Amino acid sequence: EASALSRIGLAGLAVMGQNLALNIADKGFPISVYNRTASKVDETVDRARQEGQLPLTGQYNPKDFVLSIQRPRSVIILVKAGSPVDQTIAALSSHMEPGDTIIDGGNEWYENTERRIQEVSGKGLLYLGMGVSGGEEGARNGPSLMPGGSYQAYSNIQEILEKIAAQVKDDGPCVTYIGEGGSGNFVKMVHNGIEYGDMQLISEAYDVLKNVGGLSNQELSEIFAEWNRGELESFLIEITADIFRVKDEYGDGGLVDKILDKTGMKGTGKWTVQQAAELSVAAPTIAASLDCRYLSGLKDERENAAEVLREAGLNEEKGVKLGGIDKKRLIDDVRQALYASKICSYAQGMNLLRAKSVERGWDLNLGELARIWKGGCIIRAVFLDRIKKAYQRNPNLANLVVDPDFAREMVQRQAAWRRVVGLAISAGISTPGMCASLSYFDTYRRARLPANLVQAQRDLFGAHTYERIDRPGSFHTEWTKLA
Ligand code: NAP
Repeated sequence: EASALSRIGLAGLAVMGQNLALNIADKGFPISVYNRTASKVDETVDRARQEGQLPLTGQYNPKDFVLSIQRPRSVIILVKAGSPVDQTIAALSSHMEPGDTIIDGGNEWYENTERRIQEVSGKGLLYLGMGVSGGEEGARNGPSLMPGGSYQAYSNIQEILEKIAAQVKDDGPCVTYIGEGGSGNFVKMVHNGIEYGDMQLISEAYDVLKNVGGLSNQELSEIFAEWNRGELESFLIEITADIFRVKDEYGDGGLVDKILDKTGMKGTGKWTVQQAAELSVAAPTIAASLDCRYLSGLKDERENAAEVLREAGLNEEKGVKLGGIDKKRLIDDVRQALYASKICSYAQGMNLLRAKSVERGWDLNLGELARIWKGGCIIRAVFLDRIKKAYQRNPNLANLVVDPDFAREMVQRQAAWRRVVGLAISAGISTPGMCASLSYFDTYRRARLPANLVQAQRDLFGAHTYERIDRPGSFHTEWTKLA
């Protein structure tokens, strides 16, 4: 018997694909699913049955899969980024027809998406590169979606995307058409770079509170839970509070203390920093968080250095003898330092997006990006609403820190921020993210920098010339003759 065609298809049923497919079916859109390895199709079909007889059909080869979808077809693929995406496109596209769309939901390098847009256009196929954030839980119950590429392709599935995305009260679904080309992947990449910064800054707050303030896991959990009721309210602060509550099942104490201090990574943070350098945009907080991941990987070297340099800084085993630390004040200072540092990190990410948008003519709407990050994604946070409003007030805002509201907050928090960074430096506890943010702030807000001396040096040894502050033109001086 001929069964009805599905509204949409999804290929690639690992963590993300399986959950996103169930989410789509759950919203009432009949979906066909396919995976290279058949067992994942069975698994997904089983889950669809168990999670409420959802309208989901398993398919076991590319042709049946494609033909089971109504035209113009929209097929989401969620496989490992890189060549698996090309292989999946090759397998599916031979059965697809002009007007059909491929939507890559993976963390793909944006230039790969731009290449594929060109490649499939030869067959009359449309293409979207769609960043998906929110991990497993988000995919199942409401992610933040960043689709870029063909606007026609977006229109074809707009109603589905708006239903499956996270919903933010009074602010709509966490999806918007990002722009042309690989803009959706690029925006997701910067989202991940900001996520690196957030996680690094939170880990530094933890480090200072634990190793300078002497807070226990129990206290840390309470502090983060309390912060999550204020201006720092966000997914990452919330899960941090939860993490400190989990006991180690193999022994005494908290599980967090038993975890090896080596951070993994998959590349989006590195791409963000590379892009910032390419575009001459300063992103020191995001770069510091990437560097910290690299340094964290040198566990053996760090253990050796800790031995060789045990007289440097203040040794944690000896206890940090700073004396007179007022715990309550430290906690409040760290909260303010974290907030101010985060704002600088978001400012860097937003300015990177703007620079790329200008280079590519993407016409990115920064306020709208802040809006779709308010729910579903890993960096969702209450203050994104304020970031959204700052860009709505002034779409050409040069930097978040000069928005009148944020400027006031930064000034209010700077004393606490400086105290925390100063204390950490005296204690020999590294806070590279907070330091990078503070240096970014202090550099950006100074009308005059020592760059005049660098220009003089460049002119002396390389005749690179310099400009003057008091008259136009470009000048060169025979410095050594005058010295
Ligand atoms: P994944 O581990 O990145 O990829 C596994 C999937 O890729 C499986 O379905 C696998 O099929 C398929 N695959 C691998 N090589 C293939 C090939 N050559 N041809 C066809 N299929 C191939 O899965 P994931 O964690 O769900 O992530 C999917 C994408 O979403 C990635 O780009 C990832 O970066 C991105 N993402 C992940 C998360 C997350 O929290 N995990 C969050 C946001 C975005 P088989 O079963 O046949 O091996």
